[in-house]
Amino acid sequence: MHASELDFPALQRTIDRVWRDDILPALCDYIAIACQSPAFDPDWAENGHMERAVGLMTDWAREQLSAVAGACIDVLRLPGRTPLIFIEIPASGGDANPDAPVLIYGHLDKQPPMPGWAPGRDAFTPVFEGDRLYGRGGADDGYAIFAAIAALRALREHGGAHPRCQILIEASEESSSIDLPAYIEALAPRLGEPVLIVALDAGCGNYDQLWTTTSLRGQVAGTLTVRVLDEGVHSGDASGIVPSSFRIARQLLSRLEDPHSGEIVADFHVEIPQQRREQAAAAGAALGQELREGFPFHGDTRAVADDPGELALNRAWRPQLAITGIDGAPRVADAAAVMQPYTALKLGLRLPPTLDPEAAARRVRALLEADPPYCSAVSFELDFASRGWHAPPAAPWLAASLERASRLAFGRGSAVIGGGGGIPFLAMLGERYPRAQFLVTGVLGPQSNAHGPNEFLHLPTVRRLTAALAQVLHDAVRGETGRAPDTHADAGGTADTMSAATPVF
Ligand SMILES: [Zn+2]
Repeated sequence: MHASELDFPALQRTIDRVWRDDILPALCDYIAIACQSPAFDPDWAENGHMERAVGLMTDWAREQLSAVAGACIDVLRLPGRTPLIFIEIPASGGDANPDAPVLIYGHLDKQPPMPGWAPGRDAFTPVFEGDRLYGRGGADDGYAIFAAIAALRALREHGGAHPRCQILIEASEESSSIDLPAYIEALAPRLGEPVLIVALDAGCGNYDQLWTTTSLRGQVAGTLTVRVLDEGVHSGDASGIVPSSFRIARQLLSRLEDPHSGEIVADFHVEIPQQRREQAAAAGAALGQELREGFPFHGDTRAVADDPGELALNRAWRPQLAITGIDGAPRVADAAAVMQPYTALKLGLRLPPTLDPEAAARRVRALLEADPPYCSAVSFELDFASRGWHAPPAAPWLAASLERASRLAFGRGSAVIGGGGGIPFLAMLGERYPRAQFLVTGVLGPQSNAHGPNEFLHLPTVRRLTAALAQVLHDAVRGETGRAPDTHADAGGTADTMSAATPVF
């Protein structure tokens, strides 16, 4: 089997048809399921949404793979943990090494619905508008299992080759993958030594090319509580005598973050590798204002910096603080002239990819709890400290394959960017399989708003990404043997004349 023999336009047409006829109806049903991650639905087992999502996906996978001899679809259930879908598909075509599988990752648990959806849209109601499918979990990350299976099915239909593939869909990702380590341990004998780990849960800088993620940030998350009173008191009577818990909280935060620039103190920075600086500058130059326009800025609000390269670097390699929740304050509409007894803030401190999260968590606590102003009761309660991830250098075959796949599917070369969020799975797998190659990509592009209201899946992008994945899996059969891949100088030349995914919706 030779990579250049793959008829890419025909493959893309098949994938477009599979998306339209087979995937979208199932994905719409999945969007309608409120299968929130256990952190947001502690009663997930009793509520049964998770089980319905697992049933929907495995029924679909069984139907799609019914003709594939040796395909195996399992639902693993460790006691007291969310379920995990594990699919194995034997190698096809070529001379794939059966001991060198590809592991493809996605998740089926969702973020909570969040208020703020535009009229006519709703978290658990799938809505098509133009190129977009709105609804919670379509892009983050329900599409992953469908795209992976569609890529493999299309490869087989078009005489392509692929290595032995394992598809792992977990259900605790949005709860920092609390259940995943136990499953990775349990699965270790079946996982073998993956040569390529594909994570379909990341972002894309735009919808015009194949983006791969080279790093992800870690995070320290926890709650800062400042208590000054045993009960609320008249604010006119007490202010000037009782210190404000809110002001003390501000003062403590400024030990961590410069309130003017938003810059985090030096303890939480790392030396940024020169290659990543250059790549951030290149991504910034390629994206320009798109980086800013990817967010729903209100009115004249500006980004924290003008230079897009700096913005890319900020998000990928610098620590940043977000306050994601507040307790101890009544709603504005309910506010009376009362000084509140306490202020509690949920902190999310994003960390550079290579910073030790445990040490960072200890440092956050020490900074916040030292010398409490006015001898107030100050505590920092840690939720979790998660490790970031930094990609190993891409093997020549993979770098060539990504470029080829991007040109064929999108008509434009591939691009790299550092991610701002985290995928605990990658930190886990990166440590366990230091020789593995990584393809970390996804459909979370400008305005797609995973975790917020109006999350959408960009349909042309997901169809192209599916075909690009098929191309990379096809190339992996030769890549993993260690033989030098062909350079395929023809791929770039033909890209312009090739229609990159005919829109069918
Ligand atoms: Zn996700």
